[in-house]
Amino acid sequence: MNKQTIRDVDWTGKRALVRVDFNVPLDQNGVITDDTRIRAALPTIRYLLDQGASVVLMSHLGRPKKKVVESMRLRPVAERLFELLPEAQEVKKTEVTTGQAAEAAAEALKPGQVLLLENTRFDPREEANDEEMARELAKLGDVYVNDAFGSAHRAHASTEGVARYLPAVAGFLMEAELNALYGALENPKRPFVTIIGGAKISDKIGVIENLLRKVNTLLIGGGMANTFLVAQGLSLGDSLVESESIEIAGGLIEKARAAGVDLLLPTDAVVADAFSADAQHKVVPVDQVADGWRILDIGPDTVATYSEVIKQAKTVIWNGPMGVFEMAPFAKGTLAIAQAMAEATAQGATTIIGGGDSVAAIEQAGLSDKMSHISTGGGASLELLEGRELPGVVALLDK
Ligand code: ADP
Ligand code: MG
Repeated sequence: MNKQTIRDVDWTGKRALVRVDFNVPLDQNGVITDDTRIRAALPTIRYLLDQGASVVLMSHLGRPKKKVVESMRLRPVAERLFELLPEAQEVKKTEVTTGQAAEAAAEALKPGQVLLLENTRFDPREEANDEEMARELAKLGDVYVNDAFGSAHRAHASTEGVARYLPAVAGFLMEAELNALYGALENPKRPFVTIIGGAKISDKIGVIENLLRKVNTLLIGGGMANTFLVAQGLSLGDSLVESESIEIAGGLIEKARAAGVDLLLPTDAVVADAFSADAQHKVVPVDQVADGWRILDIGPDTVATYSEVIKQAKTVIWNGPMGVFEMAPFAKGTLAIAQAMAEATAQGATTIIGGGDSVAAIEQAGLSDKMSHISTGGGASLELLEGRELPGVVALLDK
């Protein structure tokens, strides 16, 4: 990675202003239901404290729409953080994000102490990447650290603007994400295989176009495979098809051919007579999907072909489930691909999962620890795979 990290700074007596991604899910009672994102920030926070810094943390939570929403305050996050970080002795928390009270709290910090600012998105200036807010944030620390990979595709005051007013470096989570994703994209061990699925081709056109320039094989599954199949002249009954993208799908098939990339489409599918977990379902070849039926998963022949390709790969990136994995009868394809990736990892391949639903599917399969890297940033990892620069990364100091 060509960006400076927290290892490149002498932290003795310094105050670190750290953008983290504490956007955790809360239940109706405000209880955190999954603290993965808080845990993911701990290595950076611990390192800074160990090196003699004090730490000011900032994050967004939910979508408060530019105003204070009581249920989206970061109080429960501060409490959970303290449970996970007892060596901090205390995690202070302000009710504001910037301004005099925040400055006083930040200035009172001693080395080894931690302060959490209030939800950055309560301030309407955050998402507008307002200069004034960026300057106010910059007063709260000596060095800015961005460890919020999941927000790096947004140019907001706390992710991009503030970096113009302080020396800015990457935290460990940001570094790990960038090393994994750019490492695979720019310097892959071959064969390099990507698996793209999910509901809609329109969400993933940019990703496919960019990857076509880099990979050896592209495996297509999920609802979006339907539009490719229709582009090849098949009719798919009541399956989800994006009619406005059929031409684009045909174009991508042409581009793959011209680039010498193997683009594989499903040869069989699990079809159902309704979009429901208790619908009737059966396996058919993709050219035999009758009216009244819809494709909700890839079939066993496709699983066998794709698994073989995956097991022979040296680099695999996966984004997008192979079927409607939220319903048990249509989760088999996704689980089988996850299993094939786990086997590839065991044989020394680099395996990377990106995308919110894809990560959920891997967790559901209990295979998270069998992959080389699971990206914490859905939208950010997609934009990176599209070949776009992430504003939160561009803003960091070069090595
Ligand atoms: P990710 O979040 O990993 O990027 P997407 O959001 O693009 O993935 O797609 C995930 C969604 O795609 C899931 O909710 C899944 O149910 C849906 N999906 C997958 N296959 C199909 C299909 N054949 N028909 C309809 N929806 C599908
Ligand atoms: Mg999704």
